[in-house]
Amino acid sequence: MANDNRIINIIYNNDESSIKTYHILKEKLIKKGFFIPKTYDDNAELNICIGGDGAFLRAIHRYNFPDIPFIGINTGHLGFFQEILPDNIDEFIERYVNRDYVVEKIFLVKSDITTKNNSFHLLGINEIVIKGIKSKVVHLEVFIDDNHLERFSGDGIIISTPAGSTGYNYSSGGSIVYPSLNTLQITPLSPISSRVYRSLLNSTIVPGDITITIKPEYRYENSILVVVDGMELKYNDIMEMKFYIPEKTISKLNFDKNMYWNNLKSKFL
Ligand code: NAP
Repeated sequence: MANDNRIINIIYNNDESSIKTYHILKEKLIKKGFFIPKTYDDNAELNICIGGDGAFLRAIHRYNFPDIPFIGINTGHLGFFQEILPDNIDEFIERYVNRDYVVEKIFLVKSDITTKNNSFHLLGINEIVIKGIKSKVVHLEVFIDDNHLERFSGDGIIISTPAGSTGYNYSSGGSIVYPSLNTLQITPLSPISSRVYRSLLNSTIVPGDITITIKPEYRYENSILVVVDGMELKYNDIMEMKFYIPEKTISKLNFDKNMYWNNLKSKFL
């Protein structure tokens, strides 16, 4: 069959419905002549991720932001990233074999963190959040390129991608940004605006060629927590964090150009 030597990775979480969907999908793909490796194969042409958005985010991190395109099968979660339903597997395979889809890019957010003695680099799909530990107020100096914007005081700041704008950003009052727009959004978490502290109360959307720099106020520097797509990281003595859109993107198959708007209505309203 023409699909010989075509490898597809299937990544699934431990939910009963995901395991069941995995077995059905695997059998159908093998019947079409695809090879499904037992463990993740870097030479695959497609990554199918079964689960919810959380499973999709974890898969991208676990396999180190691969160039292989993704498609998601949603098994009972919100599944904003997950386009296919288990009931539509036959139609999905047919359309995949006939190349009846477009490949869309998911823009990421990168952060270069400088501490007193080291530097670290993070990539996020949804967002990177800077928060206080132990429920303390954080004080952060925010710069857009080299322009000082504000001295923020509050619970923290979310730097979200367009794809992540419907996640934590949206729950925190940020705007929904269409995924093909090359932007980052700075969204405050419980900003304080009083006679003592003055922070912007709403989110700011900045163009993709701009660098956002955040410097924790010195005496509070060890009270900062960094959260990347829901994963907490702790760094000592952060001096500065730079955020920007890296060249690296994630590819995702799209079988329906109206999917985004239908999703928005059905999953949020
Ligand atoms: P999680 O339980 O994996 O996710 C929390 C909820 O956010 C789930 O319903 C998830 O969908 C949904 N979600 C994730 N990415 C989304 C996106 N781009 N658009 C719309 N919904 C999305 O939580 P986690 O492991 O702590 O963090 C994963 C993500 O959850 C984070 O990147 C953040 O965006 C979001 N989050 C939201 C809040 C909040 O809204 N207050 C707080 C923390 C984190 P599924 O059910 O399909 O997995």
